Order: sequence, then structure tokens, then C-alpha cells
Amino acid sequence: MDLAALDGWMREFARLVAENRDELTRLDSAIGDADHGINMDRGMTAAVSALDAATPAGAAGMFKKVGMTLVSTTGGASGPLYGTLFLRFGTAAGEVGELTAATFATALRAGLDGVVQRGKAELGDKTMVDALAPAVDALDAGLAADTSLGAALAAAQAAADAGRDATIPMLARKGRASYLGERSIGHQDPGATSVALLVTAAATVLGTPGQR
Ligand code: ADP
Ligand code: MG
Repeated sequence: MDLAALDGWMREFARLVAENRDELTRLDSAIGDADHGINMDRGMTAAVSALDAATPAGAAGMFKKVGMTLVSTTGGASGPLYGTLFLRFGTAAGEVGELTAATFATALRAGLDGVVQRGKAELGDKTMVDALAPAVDALDAGLAADTSLGAALAAAQAAADAGRDATIPMLARKGRASYLGERSIGHQDPGATSVALLVTAAATVLGTPGQR
């Protein structure tokens, strides 16, 4: 996959965030402060503008731009966490013009590791990690089994969606939702929901048969 494809991934994520902005905010109103959709839409709109304004030489520069823009424009916990995800993704990918499926998977895992390091959430804490970790695992498993990138990304998308849904019965142990204790049970986590959109965007844009 080349830089144009990765750029397309970010633009599709921004489009999905905008389309689901009210839903993300509604979910955050149940167990947070009703701003996740607003935060993510503001951040990804700014990230797309930053991509419009720049001509990055490689993936590292491109995702540094996206990550820094999210850190500086997105309020809440999600800004620094998504910022870290993309900064680590870019650093792991390197300043290259083309990524293989294996490099993409390695970079996405580096992004996950960054989110875990920064937010200290474990699986089952009802956070972004509950959608991202299963997606990265499914992507790795798919590529190890020698399926096409498209099939591996489709499996990652299914895993992210299942991980998002699995947050509903969880008790929140990190972030604002954790202040609610038992009352956080029965609500879908907003951050896991936006992560599922990120993985959907990858499957849609990077998983087409022409991509390699
Ligand atoms: P805030 O909670 O500061 O208002 P947002 O509403 O934008 O920020 O984002 C909330 C989401 O951030 C949560 O649904 C959760 O998925 C994620 N989140 C919060 N804290 C953490 C953490 N420590 N680790 C991972 N994800 C987290
Ligand atoms: Mg919030």
C-alpha cells in the first residue's frame, strides 16, 4: 500500500467519524461527558486539513502530522491516545513510500502498544483497547495464515466490531466512565466504537483486492 492509500484510510476514518459523530457523543453521554463525537470529529477534520496542506515524503511524516494534529486539537482522553496510536504507527512504519501488509500489521501493533503504555488500560477495562487489541490479533493471525490482506483486514474489522460490542457488559476501569463504577455496565464504550470505525476504514480502503 502506498501513501495515497494510507491517506485514503485517514480520510475514510474522518468521514466515518463525521457520519457517526452524534452516535459517538450519545454513547459518551451515557457513561462520560458527551463529547467523544465532537472531540474525534474536530480532531479528524483538522487532521484531514493538515494532510491537505502537506506533502509527506513517507509514512512516518504523514502519521506524525496526523498524530500531532490530534494531540493539539482533540480534547479529552482520546486526543493523546489516538495521537500516540498514529505517532507510533508512523515511527514503526518508517519514512517509506510503500508499506507491505506485514509492515502495516507491525505498525498497527506498535500503535496499540503505545495506547496501552500511555493509558495503562488492560483488556476488559472497557476502553479503546478492547476493540483495537482483538483487531490487531486478528490481522496478525490472518496474515500468518497467508490469507490475502483484504481477508485479514475483514477479519480484523469483525474482531473490532465484536470487541466493541463486548464492552457493553464490562465495568469501566479507566477514564471518565470508571467514575460511574457499576453504573457503567450495560453501555457500549465510545472509544471502542470509534476504534471499530478506524478498522472499518482500513478494511474498506486498504483491503480492496488491488491493494498490496
Ligand atoms: P474524555 O473521557 O476525556 O471526555 P473522550 O470522551 O474523547 O475523552 O474519550 C473517551 C474514551 O476514551 C473512552 O470511551 C475510552 O475508550 C477511552 N479511554 C479513556 N481512558 C482511557 C485509557 N486510560 N486507556 C484507553 N482508552 C481510554
Ligand atoms: Mg468524553
